[in-house]
Amino acid sequence: WAKAEGRDRWAVYDPERSARDIARSALAAGLPVALDRGEFVLHYQPIVSLLDGRMLAVEALVRWQHPQLGLIGPDQFIGLAEETGLIVRLGEWVLRQACDDAQRWHADFPDARLVVSVNLAARQADRPAIVDTVADALASTGLPAALLQLELTESAVMGSAGEPLRTLHRLAALGVRLAVDDFGTGYSNLAYLRRLPITCLKLAGPFVEGIRGTESADADHRDERIVDALVRLAHALELWVTAEAVETETQAERLRALRCDSAQGRLFGPPGPAEAVAARLRGDEL
Ligand code: C2E
Ligand code: MG
Ligand code: MG
Ligand code: MG
Repeated sequence: WAKAEGRDRWAVYDPERSARDIARSALAAGLPVALDRGEFVLHYQPIVSLLDGRMLAVEALVRWQHPQLGLIGPDQFIGLAEETGLIVRLGEWVLRQACDDAQRWHADFPDARLVVSVNLAARQADRPAIVDTVADALASTGLPAALLQLELTESAVMGSAGEPLRTLHRLAALGVRLAVDDFGTGYSNLAYLRRLPITCLKLAGPFVEGIRGTESADADHRDERIVDALVRLAHALELWVTAEAVETETQAERLRALRCDSAQGRLFGPPGPAEAVAARLRGDEL
């Protein structure tokens, strides 16, 4: 038993409170300190054209270089950062760093017109101040707005009416591209989708994973037919389509046959440090 504040308030020792919960709160407590100490790093994963294999964009994916625990993936801390509100500051750092790196690539390889794609959490995207944050990141780094793409989740954009919708339109008016991330896994409202100022749909990994070619046990190719339908939907709305989590040559071939525009995944390169992007741009130039 532990006595909390006040006479009638007792905090009960709860053996059910797992070691995992305790580790989680310890991690959450460490986040603001980590941000101040510069322990976050961005890795970048290529998004390539399925027509000619050229690298069109890179997605910025944040990692935490923890002094004791090593490199920690975003699935371990983005949710925590959203709960504690730190996502706003962390997101600003990500945006600034990504624009800074992209401006450097643009200065060194102007013909590549390489786009940097940055994930926005729902909690960032629905604050009107995000417009100033994005405008500031562009102005202070000098990155042309057309070379920045923002990835929003279906739930973040679909629920938006009124103020949040105006925020999306103000972001689009800056000249940046807006993509819907993990498309097909949330609750999309198609009537609503056509009113959004978006430029790209990113097809969620699970559909791509279901593409296994002719030898597949899934004889009716259900996932492949869903991808077919989603690509047609996107094109009917004049949107680009990027397939996520492409791991095999078969998947890439099928996606190409279905007229999917671009793809991302281990087949085309894992997320890696900024230097790897510059090296690849140098290689593409040859
Ligand atoms: P996401 O935006 O859908 O990012 C794609 C995820 O797929 C990345 O995981 C990437 O490493 C992974 N991936 C890459 N290639 C393959 C593949 O061939 N197969 C499979 N199965 N997966 C692949 P990661 O880096 O662990 O990021 C996880 C999620 O964390 C992201 O999903 C995104 O929602 C979130 N996230 C990452 N960075 C940020 C950030 O800066 N801000 C916010 N708000 N969220 C972020
Ligand atoms: Mg992960
Ligand atoms: Mg993403
Ligand atoms: Mg995604």
